[in-house]
Amino acid sequence: MTYQSLNPFDGELIKTFDELPDAALETKIAIADACFKTWRHKSYAERAAIIAKAGQILHSRANEFARTMTLEMGKRISEARGEVEFSARILAYYAKNAERFLAPVKLKPVNGEAHMESSPIGVIFCVEPWNFPYYQLARVAGPHLMAGNTLLVKHAGIVPQCAIAFEKLLIEAGAPDGLYTNLLISHDQSDRVVDDPRIKGVALTGSVAAGQSIAARAGKNVKVSSMELGGSDAFIVLDDADLDHTIPWAVWGRMYNTGQTCCAAKRFIVHERIADKFLERFQAALGALKAGDPLEEKTTLGPLSTESALVALLKQVDLAVSKGAKVRMGGKRIDRPGSFMQPTILTDVKPQNPAFRDEFFGPVAMVFRVKNEDEAIALANDSDFGLGGSVWTKDVARGKRVASRVETGMMFINNIDWSDAELPFGGVKNSGYGRELGDMGIQQFVNKKLVRTSTAHAPA
Ligand code: NAP
Repeated sequence: MTYQSLNPFDGELIKTFDELPDAALETKIAIADACFKTWRHKSYAERAAIIAKAGQILHSRANEFARTMTLEMGKRISEARGEVEFSARILAYYAKNAERFLAPVKLKPVNGEAHMESSPIGVIFCVEPWNFPYYQLARVAGPHLMAGNTLLVKHAGIVPQCAIAFEKLLIEAGAPDGLYTNLLISHDQSDRVVDDPRIKGVALTGSVAAGQSIAARAGKNVKVSSMELGGSDAFIVLDDADLDHTIPWAVWGRMYNTGQTCCAAKRFIVHERIADKFLERFQAALGALKAGDPLEEKTTLGPLSTESALVALLKQVDLAVSKGAKVRMGGKRIDRPGSFMQPTILTDVKPQNPAFRDEFFGPVAMVFRVKNEDEAIALANDSDFGLGGSVWTKDVARGKRVASRVETGMMFINNIDWSDAELPFGGVKNSGYGRELGDMGIQQFVNKKLVRTSTAHAPA
């Protein structure tokens, strides 16, 4: 039984779900493909009526959707509500803007006239992670459905109720059969879906290992894909940073979603002139977080998503320490029921330590001291990942200069306000390729077709 809802706060098994038999999977693929043949001809207004309605329902029942998320993967209820509202905004954004983003674009050839058209390509297969159970789904459903494609979605094994709730949401909003289909399937079945000739594109958000597997499969089938993978974002604190402003963001950047965010601040690279003060204040702020029931509004530290995630993270910390890292605070599970980990700071992580290149997917911050700006940039770039990062300085022009030299897909100055419907999201290097959200996000799975008219005679 791979699909199960289990509350990481108290270990209670809420519900289990059977995997889809092969024959039922075949039927669902056929229905999605048949749906594409009519959906592709619907006007933008007809598509928008359904997608916007789904956004309105999400907004109006935010508490209910948020509670399911908190029970399944432990996100604190206020964060869960925020995610639901954001997902609603993403759906509304694409319902409103898709037609403009995909409008024909006139070109200026030397001879004749030409334009680019954007048309849908078919059924897109999406593989999604548990850490943002609805936002990840809205990020694919909003743009790709508005573009005229249909979706088959394999969500993570630990959030089946969220996966089913999102499918029901679209049906309630008026989606025809096969427009958006949730698949409770195994990895083997996933591979076969990627191979299926009716599938025209593949989008994955998840770990590097999953990305390598699915991207290779898509490549073998010559199918377009987008990969949103892991990260180990640098949080660069320059010597002129305003610590009153920086510290709360450092805590939020590392601890939001109990540290289980791809673009969380994971490597704190701090100028030596300010490092002692930074560490002292960061540690005090992390130490003030209170573990508790993520359904309680006053809780400031939630559990990790599963017991196995906690055990893996503790092992990763132990390995880092055995290779020379020092534990400045935390490093252990919290002595209480549930999958809770102490907020942790590691220092003295040297390049030969595996931790130096790893992603810590939980409340573990690595802090590095640097002598100057160049050293900070070199350290930030000494990573296999390239998702996001941030620079903290009173001099915004200096922040922009530093941001330009960091090799990632996204950089933030004096904030890490990661994501908005209208801003592209994605990375480089092992963090993947392609972009979601914004105008770029809707261009991923469309055929950009050139149409040219000319009175030129054929060359002799
Ligand atoms: P994961 O194990 O890769 O799982 C993500 C999804 O991929 C799940 O649906 C999982 O299904 C599926 N999956 C994994 N291996 C697969 C395979 N071989 N074939 C088919 N499907 C496969 O990732 P995770 O540990 O749950 O999520 C955390 C990772 O995602 C982190 O590295 C994080 O940084 C990254 N992430 C990136 C972004 C971004 O936008 N860049 C956003 C969020 C998270 P099962 O659950 O059934 O195994």
